[in-house]
Amino acid sequence: TESCLTAISGAGALNAFVHDTSQLAREMASAADTRLKAGDAPAMCGIPLGIKDLFCTRGVPSQAASGILDGFRPEYESTVTSKLFEAGAVMLGKLNMDEFAMGSSNETSVYGNAVNPWRRKGDDAALTPGGSSGGSAAAVAADLCLGATGTDTGGSIRQPAAFTGITGIKPTYGRCSRWGVVAFASSLDQAGPMTKTVRDSAIMLGAMCGHDPKDSTSADMAVPDFEAALTGDIRGKVIGIPEEYSIDGMPQEIRDLWADGSEMLKDAGAEIRWISLPHTKYALPAYYVIAPAEASSNLARYDGVRYGHRASLAPGDGITEMYEKTRAEGFGPEVQRRVMVGTYVLSAGFYDAYYNRARKVRTLIKRDFEQVFADGVDAILTPATPSAAFGLGEMASADPVQMYLNDVFTVTVNLAGLPGVTVPAGQDAQGLPLGLQLIGRPWEEGELLNCAYTLE
Ligand code: GLN
Repeated sequence: TESCLTAISGAGALNAFVHDTSQLAREMASAADTRLKAGDAPAMCGIPLGIKDLFCTRGVPSQAASGILDGFRPEYESTVTSKLFEAGAVMLGKLNMDEFAMGSSNETSVYGNAVNPWRRKGDDAALTPGGSSGGSAAAVAADLCLGATGTDTGGSIRQPAAFTGITGIKPTYGRCSRWGVVAFASSLDQAGPMTKTVRDSAIMLGAMCGHDPKDSTSADMAVPDFEAALTGDIRGKVIGIPEEYSIDGMPQEIRDLWADGSEMLKDAGAEIRWISLPHTKYALPAYYVIAPAEASSNLARYDGVRYGHRASLAPGDGITEMYEKTRAEGFGPEVQRRVMVGTYVLSAGFYDAYYNRARKVRTLIKRDFEQVFADGVDAILTPATPSAAFGLGEMASADPVQMYLNDVFTVTVNLAGLPGVTVPAGQDAQGLPLGLQLIGRPWEEGELLNCAYTLE
């Protein structure tokens, strides 16, 4: 804990940590020390972690990197963080992210973007750590903590993990409780670990997940020993390579990485099989209808009354002006865009054409996966992202759709509720890390992590 706190104080330029809890960290570390000495050492005892600002942490600012939650200190602890703390983990501080987890570059944060510790060869330009869990990814990659919590609605654990050369898993929907995690799109959101190695992710995931009666979508299922599943033996497993993920304009280095990954799995004894997931091309448009629809509903609660910021009002202003001014000041432009898209697709005249259509597409995407798993495929290998980390400012200034295209390989997993993991698998010509994604059967995170383990 001390050496992490020292590293954090020297890494201000990364803008990874946005709320300092060093005092609390020292108290937690000393409590962990006492437990260790008493011979009671649970799985995460004394392990210093960073916590994404989306998690409510008791008495500690929890703002989802938004101005509208300015000054919000929850009186309760999210289930995931309480489980981690019960397992002995230490909280070093809260981590930067895109506002309300909406973004792929960490540039929508009210605190300004986190910075990727990696640089292109011979070029000092700062790069994005990805998003929305960009602070988590930067902090783990730069050794400011041993692991971090992330959340993933459409790729926010897997894309930043790929951009920073670390591992991250989005578990099956329902594996981790969403209680106390600020809601973005409730039918897609899942928490997961971001760590240096597959083994660390297996251990941390085991400590985070489990049934929680406070979240009705949390599954009442036993938590297996994910670490015990890491045998390195994948002989006879069937790995599917979906042809639809071979998109136009995909850089050759991503194609090569994908081919190398499939060779490695084959060398480890797996059978490689070409598969088809025919509705893949509709996933991104469906996601960018469903996620904003749910967000617009979830964000209705930020009204200037219950949490955080309230605009100062002029004489004669009523409740409508208070809502309007508070929300105009408190939400950044990307969040406002999502609320507008979401309310539009849910409005009476357009509901069937957009929201209901997107829900039908979602069912078709889920069935695509069910079909290949029924045909005997154990896991699916794809690239994690269409490129390596891009420069800060490079995408944010362009059309927002350019940014959305970044999520092309990750959103299907959330729409289908499946587990997905990314592992570092190589570098591009400029020396930046590239990641591969493995998608697994529901509730088979152990088997999925074991496949990822053989790629490590
Ligand atoms: N980039 C996607 C979005 O902006 C996914 C974000 C996430 O997974 N939280 O919606």
